[in-house]
Amino acid sequence: MNYIAILKGKKLAATPQRLEIINLLSKYGHLNIDELYKLLVDKFPSLSLATIYKNIHIMTEKDFLAEVQIPNKKNVYELIKKAHSHVVCSKCGEIVDVDIDTTALFDAATQVSHFKLQTSSIVFNGTCPKCA
Ligand SMILES: [Zn+2]
Ligand SMILES: [Zn+2]
Repeated sequence: MNYIAILKGKKLAATPQRLEIINLLSKYGHLNIDELYKLLVDKFPSLSLATIYKNIHIMTEKDFLAEVQIPNKKNVYELIKKAHSHVVCSKCGEIVDVDIDTTALFDAATQVSHFKLQTSSIVFNGTCPKCA
């Protein structure tokens, strides 16, 4: 994927730090700010945590990255993909995307609550195959 073109399309400068953040997220899938910082500081020793926060914030605001809230854990970030749910390993903390249709659940929640629902975030907890 041509991330430089996508960044430019969203009026975001393709700085080396941003490209490396994208690189890391496409490699690892989901990372929190601390994990990103640890991985980035090797390559950019002068990089501050505040700069990473700023970059992540603007890229999330422009719908280039998505923030994922995992109960009892720090928020993680991922590249924008089509809507999906997550499974989380309670032993090693691994987060994996699951592509299942949650439309029926969404409709049921709308019916029961009478809310006008916009989004949903579904997280399943358990043990991954490596830890089982
Ligand atoms: Zn595990
Ligand atoms: Zn995900």
